[in-house]
Amino acid sequence: MYLERFRLDDRIALVTGAAQGIGFSTAEALSEAGAHVVLADLSLEGAEAGAERLRSMGRSAEGMRLDVTRADEVDALRDRILARHGRVDVLVNNAGIAISNEPAETMADTVWLKVLDVNLNGVFWCCRAFGKGMLERGSGSIVNIGSMSGFIVNRPQEQAQYNASKAAVHHLTKSLAAEWGGRGVRVNAVAPTYIETALTSFVYDDPEMMTHWIGGTPMGRMGRTDEIASAVLFLASDAASLLTGSVVLADGGYTAW
Ligand code: NDP
Repeated sequence: MYLERFRLDDRIALVTGAAQGIGFSTAEALSEAGAHVVLADLSLEGAEAGAERLRSMGRSAEGMRLDVTRADEVDALRDRILARHGRVDVLVNNAGIAISNEPAETMADTVWLKVLDVNLNGVFWCCRAFGKGMLERGSGSIVNIGSMSGFIVNRPQEQAQYNASKAAVHHLTKSLAAEWGGRGVRVNAVAPTYIETALTSFVYDDPEMMTHWIGGTPMGRMGRTDEIASAVLFLASDAASLLTGSVVLADGGYTAW
């Protein structure tokens, strides 16, 4: 009875930024649970390659191009998926960027705007576009990828725009959960610690920064993408039927200190 509730058979799932990293592992997890997964990414080749990897494991997946900062592209993708599959049951807003080592007092407008555009505007455009259909059907689960940076200020890198964008994602999550909670649509977030992906690869050139990151983490290590994907799977599934407006920290204990 309990394990069955993690299954996503016959569900249609969309994961943004799914060509690599946390997004790809999430697509892998959702498809293993039985969902048909649409992997969307800036790079069509990357999205299609990811979908092909999943199909080679016997899963059901397809790749599509999407720039989440373009509300018109988001709406067009929704129309395309609806025409093909009739609905989206699970939406994972994973696409995000980080620009670190940017002191606030010298930060260029373009850096501030770019990070907010992908990390916050992109999440909202997708929630709005896909949330509407979920509300009409009276069911759906949205999982936003936030960050522990929405709770704490990372050290030693300066990245006020990133931290602010992720705090905003957490509060957007709660706001939509409150608006939609009585109409069958759950909205939650996962807030990861440092995860081994392209986004954090700059740390390998900076042993001092790595010492800060690991030294500040009770578990003494970075996380793996599959460790975030499993939290997303839980929130996306009926196993989390009472959770909405939750921001689940998966941080190896970082915020405990
Ligand atoms: P990656 O850089 O490995 O993957 C992100 C993917 O999103 C890439 O394929 C990227 O494409 C794509 N992408 C970027 N911009 C857009 C856009 N405008 N539209 C569609 N797709 C886009 O990152 P991670 O897997 O590490 O991060 C995934 C999410 O997790 C992000 O929201 C990030 O902020 C969050 N996160 C990550 C942490 C970490 O330590 N890695 C910690 C906490 C949160 P391209 O490569 O072409 O730019």
